[in-house]
Amino acid sequence: MRGNALANLVEKRSSVSVDKNWCRLPVGGITPFTTIDFPNRLAAVIYTHGCSWSCRYCHNAELRGSSDHPFDFEKLIQFLEDRKGKLDGVVFSGGEPSIHDSLSTWMRYAKTLGYEVGLHTSGMFPERLKNLLPLCDWVGMDIKAPFNNYDKVTLVEESGIEAKKSARLLLDSGVDYEFRTTVHPNLLSENDIKNIARELEEMGAKRFVIQAFQPEGCEDEELSQVKMPVPIISEELYHFLDCKFDFVDVRQ
Ligand code: SF4
Repeated sequence: MRGNALANLVEKRSSVSVDKNWCRLPVGGITPFTTIDFPNRLAAVIYTHGCSWSCRYCHNAELRGSSDHPFDFEKLIQFLEDRKGKLDGVVFSGGEPSIHDSLSTWMRYAKTLGYEVGLHTSGMFPERLKNLLPLCDWVGMDIKAPFNNYDKVTLVEESGIEAKKSARLLLDSGVDYEFRTTVHPNLLSENDIKNIARELEEMGAKRFVIQAFQPEGCEDEELSQVKMPVPIISEELYHFLDCKFDFVDVRQ
C-alpha cells in the first residue's frame, strides 16, 4: 500500500518513527497560495476536518464534523511535491488539525520537502500541541475569550483551561507565534478584550491580533445579521493594546 511505503520514506528521511496510519488526514480543502495565513511566507493552507468545539462564529462549520468522502492522500502528496521550492511554507488549519494523530507525520513530511510548517490551532489539546511544537516554525493560536469565560464562545464548559495550558506551552516553546481574537460585539465587549490582553500580557505574550467576525460560512444567523462596526475596536482600545504588546494588528 502506498501509504505505508510513503510512511517508510518519511521515516527514513526524517529519522523518526512514523505512525503507519499517517495517510489518514481528512483534508477538507487546500488554499494553494496565500500571503496572509503564514506571516512573511508564501504558503499553502491545508484544511482538515474535525473539531471538538462549537464556536458560534465558526466560519468553517462544514469542517467541524468528520468527512463524508474518502480522502485522496496521494493528491495531497502530489500537491506538496509539485510546489516544493515554489512556496516557503505549508499551514495546517481546520477544523482543529491537532485532533489528528497523523498530523505530526504530515508536518515531518512537509519539512523533508523543505517547507516551513505553520499551524492554526485553538489550543484545545495541549498535550498534542506540546508534541507538535518542535515541528512548527510558526503557530497562530486563537484566543476565544478571557480564559474563565471561554464557554460563552466555544459552548464547551471549561474549554479555557486547556486553551490557557496551550498558550503557556506555546510561549515557553520559543516558536514564533501570534495570538488572535475574533471579535463580534454580541460575544465580546471591549472590556472582555482588555481582560484577554491583560491575561496574555501577564503570560509574557508579545504579539496580539484582533480580527473582525466574518459572516461568510457562519451558521449562526443571530451573529451573521449584526452589522460589524468599522473600525471593529475603538481607538481607546487600540491604544490600550498597543501599550501591552510589541506587535498589534487589527484585521477588519
Ligand atoms: S475551534 Fe475553530 S474550527 Fe472549531 S468550532 Fe471553533 S472556530 Fe470552528
